[in-house]
Amino acid sequence: MKPLIGITSDLDENGEIWVQANYSRAILEAGGLPVVLPAGLEDNEQVCDRLDGLLLTGGEDVNPLNYDEEPHQQLGELSPERDTMELALARYMTDQDKPVLGICRGHQVLNVAFGGTIYQHIYSQLSGEILQHKQQADRDFATHSIDIVCGSKLEKMAGASEIQVNSLHLQAVNKVNSPLVVTAVAKDGVIEAVESKAHRFVMGVQWHPEALVNYKDPTSLQLFKQFIEASKKS
Ligand code: MN
Repeated sequence: MKPLIGITSDLDENGEIWVQANYSRAILEAGGLPVVLPAGLEDNEQVCDRLDGLLLTGGEDVNPLNYDEEPHQQLGELSPERDTMELALARYMTDQDKPVLGICRGHQVLNVAFGGTIYQHIYSQLSGEILQHKQQADRDFATHSIDIVCGSKLEKMAGASEIQVNSLHLQAVNKVNSPLVVTAVAKDGVIEAVESKAHRFVMGVQWHPEALVNYKDPTSLQLFKQFIEASKKS
């Protein structure tokens, strides 16, 4: 049986549930069975009992009150119903040691779920020359490099200490709390990936691997394959 992977979704201003099809395609491509979870869902614990893996997708900014900060002037749009649901899902899944992959916003949600914090606007809150992290190119092109930490799961997937990724964010992970550790940084020091030292598979990436999978980026495909492989053991 293919592992059942929950994919979180967005709730737009018209009340429509919405998620980019790329995420499901990447899960299918890697051998999993995707199921979209409606934003605002409340039976999170029951859902987690049935899922083999959880994919936290991209989207709006996490409400900073979730990490005990007040909103910065440059904070973007929020989706409070997603925050509540996704933080609960991330905690239930990791409590059961079921695999979680966080992408972009999902990577930040994962960090907050473990007690970490977020830079609400990197250009206002980080000093020095910060690279362009909200690329002007299509999301299926890589635009900046990242350095991968030696000995990490990500390094094994990449088979290299440096890869190129796409970048569509104005926020970034700030403080990272145990058992999460930083596993990749951009050349300006912005954190681009985290993983757990205490779980079978808990990873967050700031870039969008789902947009690179179809273009045969080996690391992105490997990331989804390892995620599905780990979910088979749930
Ligand atoms: Mn970036």
